[in-house]
Amino acid sequence: MTTSLIGALERGLAQRRASGRWRVRRTLASPQGPGAIVDGVPVVAFASNDYLGLANDPAVIEAAREGAARWGVGAGASHLVCGHQVPHADLERELAAYVAPCPGAQALLMGSGYLANLAIVAALVGRGDAVFADRLNHACLNDAALLARADLVRYPHLDADALAQRLAASRAPRRLIATDAVFSMDGDVAPLARLLELAQAHDAWLVVDDAHGFGVLGDGRGSVAAAGLASERIVTMGTLGKAAGVAGAFVAAHPAVVETIVQSARPYIYSTAAPALLACALRASLAAIRDGHERRARLAARIAQFRAGAQDLPWTLLPSSTPIQPLIVGGDAEVVALSLALLARGVFVPAIRPPTVPEGTARLRISLSAAHEAADVDRLLDALHDAQRAPA
Ligand SMILES: *Cc1c(COP(=O)(O)O)cnc(C)c1O
Repeated sequence: MTTSLIGALERGLAQRRASGRWRVRRTLASPQGPGAIVDGVPVVAFASNDYLGLANDPAVIEAAREGAARWGVGAGASHLVCGHQVPHADLERELAAYVAPCPGAQALLMGSGYLANLAIVAALVGRGDAVFADRLNHACLNDAALLARADLVRYPHLDADALAQRLAASRAPRRLIATDAVFSMDGDVAPLARLLELAQAHDAWLVVDDAHGFGVLGDGRGSVAAAGLASERIVTMGTLGKAAGVAGAFVAAHPAVVETIVQSARPYIYSTAAPALLACALRASLAAIRDGHERRARLAARIAQFRAGAQDLPWTLLPSSTPIQPLIVGGDAEVVALSLALLARGVFVPAIRPPTVPEGTARLRISLSAAHEAADVDRLLDALHDAQRAPA
């Protein structure tokens, strides 16, 4: 007999299914790459954040293999107990030199971008302080304010004037501005120079979540470098599972910020270090990012090709110059139908629905990669035009 606890969950799940918000995990029988096998079907995939095609790169795979042979497969403990090994330390030094948001910056590896944001915010603000957040920030920056027990003050997307008003009205002893650098579901870019001016004017931290900029923008160094900025109040978070193709994340900031996270941030202290073999893979990946001019040029060409070919589609293409190219469809059921229509034509583009994006803005999130050939993008454009004429 089903308990009332299970019964309550099953009613909640049934409601979700009825509301068109049901999420399914598709299973890939292939590495990440344009030629994926999704639920047993070969497709051209425009779904992953593997913007430079490093997730299945032979040199990165070989570095992981050698790393496993040299260091084993498990880190054994948290960084503060005994999990911090030579490849972690080497990678941190290389990331600090490459990304440095201020002179003398240090870098700190974290298990994931989600954990990194929790750690940064909790280390810098607490109860009674305020986190100022763009309304379209990634969910984990909002969760970070909750963990820190700080007040969360959201401002309209990209609206620096509205942010300035909120900062001026705040009496919080410590303030922190948090923003995605490249917005994950929109592909547009935060006005970082203006945000830094406001941070200076109001003595606030500026936390830049560069999950989608690191490796791609600023010739690889990320969004802060692309904007030509450097400041001790900037804390950059970069993820290592997207353009870098592996897993994990890092914080790059003034050494006092990094040391405060090491000493006090619970998501850092109470979590097992990632295996050293991943740090080995990431050193190879970072080398490919540093020398990645060709990959980035190929990516830029695919973005331009897609945008040129998508202008006459009936859905709204958001103004994005990054690999994230959203087509706003509107309704939940419509976007799911369109995604399925593309899948029937051998093209995989995920449908993104609320609450990940605001109500009424369900969309296809088309994600381009240097691994795509021009013919792959043509295939996507053909499938979109075809699906428009003959909806599934
Ligand atoms: C993916 C993402 C994260 C989380 O990073 P993970 O390493 O996947 O945990 C954080 N912020 C943004 C903007 C992201 O897109």
